[in-house]
Amino acid sequence: MLTVREAVRRGTSYLGRRKLREPRLDAELILFSILEKDRAYLLTHPEHVLSSSQRKKWARWLRKRGDAYPLQYLVGKQEFYKRDFAVGPEVLIPRPETEVLVDVCLDLLETMAVGKPRVLDVGTGSGVIAVTLARENKSALVTATDISSRALSLARQNAVFHKCEKQIEFLEGSGMEPLKARGEPFDLVVSNPPYVGVCTQHLVDKSVSMYEPREAVFARNNGLEMYEALFKECPRFMKPGAPLVLEIGAGAKRQVCQEARIWAWRESSVKKDLAGIDRCLVFAHGNQERRYS
Ligand code: GLN
Repeated sequence: MLTVREAVRRGTSYLGRRKLREPRLDAELILFSILEKDRAYLLTHPEHVLSSSQRKKWARWLRKRGDAYPLQYLVGKQEFYKRDFAVGPEVLIPRPETEVLVDVCLDLLETMAVGKPRVLDVGTGSGVIAVTLARENKSALVTATDISSRALSLARQNAVFHKCEKQIEFLEGSGMEPLKARGEPFDLVVSNPPYVGVCTQHLVDKSVSMYEPREAVFARNNGLEMYEALFKECPRFMKPGAPLVLEIGAGAKRQVCQEARIWAWRESSVKKDLAGIDRCLVFAHGNQERRYS
């Protein structure tokens, strides 16, 4: 027989021994996700006894979490911009700092004198950026690409869940590839590309390097691979002067801007995340007038 009180105690102690940073929090989250209750329930029902199937699941999840398997993959969801998104090991877990990109895009879209702005989200993963933009700006028409068909199917599921699937077109392929031979230029392009350099992978958390999709996290050329591709390919798919909004890794601003200049892009603004790190860069191409920035 396993009670809630005992499950929290044993879970916390196990995860502590496995050197997790917040063993108590994780143990509680695992438990109330399995019980489908909230934290208050755990506190007020310490004698609640887990059923045998719940108990098996609890032991399995604890073991996985003990091996640094992300909690979000266990519970199957992550909040982003105050909405729940389904996530699984086929997609990057959405990070709170990516909300900065969404804010920047929404501000830019608002200043555009375009009835139905066309937005491209390159490497949509779980679809958090595409879906949030569609939800927050009802007139935006979003195209979302991803190299992974499994990621795209999850992104589509998230769009359906948030009732904006009619606003989003999903295309499978690497970078801008699936767009080839398509007309209608975009008013804004956004991307949170993989940007951890392959050679610095030993510096990232074990839970990231072991369990998150490699193609969503790591990039060659010191992490610049996808930026180079975007800088090179984007102009012919964008309206003149349209902004390119990119997330960058901590400390990567100088390098990314340098790469941008090679391809005739200039930086028009930079935005920090809540931790004070330069996180979002906006670029405009060539010597066009700054229509949107
Ligand atoms: N666009 C998704 C996100 O920001 C996925 C990004 C990625 O896989 N690199 O979470």
